[in-house]
Amino acid sequence: MSKRQTRNCEVPVTPALDLEIETLAIRAGHERTHELEHSEALFLTSSFVFNSAEEAAERFSGKSPGNVYSRFSNPTVRMFEQRIAAMEGGERAVALASGMSAIVSTCIALLKAGDHVVCSRSVFGTTVVIFEKYLKKFGVECTFVDLPDLQQWEAAIQPNTRMLFLETPSNPLGEVADIRRLSELAKSRDILLVVDNCFCTPVLQRPLELGADIVIHSATKYLDGQGRCVGGVVVGPNQLMEEVYGFLRSGGPTMSPFNAWVFLKGLEVLGVRMRAHCENAQRIAEWLEAQPLVEKVFYGGLPSHPQHELAKQQQSGFGGIVSFRIKGGREEAWRFINGTRLISITANLGDVKTTITHPATTTHGRVSPEARAQAGITENLMRLSIGLESVTDLQEDLARGFAAVQAAPK
Ligand SMILES: *Cc1c(COP(=O)(O)O)cnc(C)c1O
Repeated sequence: MSKRQTRNCEVPVTPALDLEIETLAIRAGHERTHELEHSEALFLTSSFVFNSAEEAAERFSGKSPGNVYSRFSNPTVRMFEQRIAAMEGGERAVALASGMSAIVSTCIALLKAGDHVVCSRSVFGTTVVIFEKYLKKFGVECTFVDLPDLQQWEAAIQPNTRMLFLETPSNPLGEVADIRRLSELAKSRDILLVVDNCFCTPVLQRPLELGADIVIHSATKYLDGQGRCVGGVVVGPNQLMEEVYGFLRSGGPTMSPFNAWVFLKGLEVLGVRMRAHCENAQRIAEWLEAQPLVEKVFYGGLPSHPQHELAKQQQSGFGGIVSFRIKGGREEAWRFINGTRLISITANLGDVKTTITHPATTTHGRVSPEARAQAGITENLMRLSIGLESVTDLQEDLARGFAAVQAAPK
């Protein structure tokens, strides 16, 4: 590493300086142009020029490094990839157009007909659709298991199992899996362990350090953090990421440079945001637990949460997602949602703005009723993504929701 690079903290994927996550979030992966701009440059260009036919040939063949075409190489996207790879402690990251395209690209790149996947029941609804409907069409079978139950994971493994896929904490119930023990199980059978780290972000949990092979993000959520862009990223060892990159290059689910630039800016404040999300969510979860109309609150930071101890051990914070069941059914849940005034009714999460959603009829609406029931997504369940507004204002808004339920004709 040259002195100038060190001076400017152009921290590559393997940091030369031993930096903390908050610093990596702000400094890692930055490559300055000859203009020496302080903030990351946005390269809004679909293609790049060559000085000669010879250089064009070398670039296309991959013999000389450099940009060719923004479907698969763009400096702004590369900066985002390098930054998130450094934060997750992975060798390489590949950015994609969305969280779902990150999941699909990983599967297409690393699975083949005849392979089998074991997946947690409580993953993002669309992830279930991908495994149940689309991968099945191409001969990849999937077995769903209860996220925290190690014995179920072990029992579901077949000779052709190639991948274990999970989210921890899960959406929307915040169940927690023991990543280290699952990684031991996966390694002993030569199976890839893929963790969707969307809810924690590398600020609160680094699955690769716990033995996972691949980390996936929907960058749309906390990595952006202000609800502006859709994007995704996959992080892991060079050898596996080369496969994912190969699919990106041909298949084309590309992250736009503009979105990458927004995500770079989002990452810079991820450290402070995540700490504030955790603090607000803890206060709201405790408050909800004391409300008479609440049947149950799901938040890893509550001692009542079945995996509270594991979450405390594995994560450096419990995150911003709080789910709860209201006494009653769909009618009460919808009444509650409609009774709020400040909180946004939207399926998005991980935003500075607090959001509320009814998973059974939105995010998990396309999941079969049986699968939904097994995953605990009941009609009286609501998911809050706690933002960074004043907790007092949020409590007042939630109180409006409870008041609307109480005022309903019986
Ligand atoms: C939103 C989400 C996804 C999908 O990401 P998109 O960016 O919406 O495609 C995947 N996993 C989890 C946990 C999510 O919350």
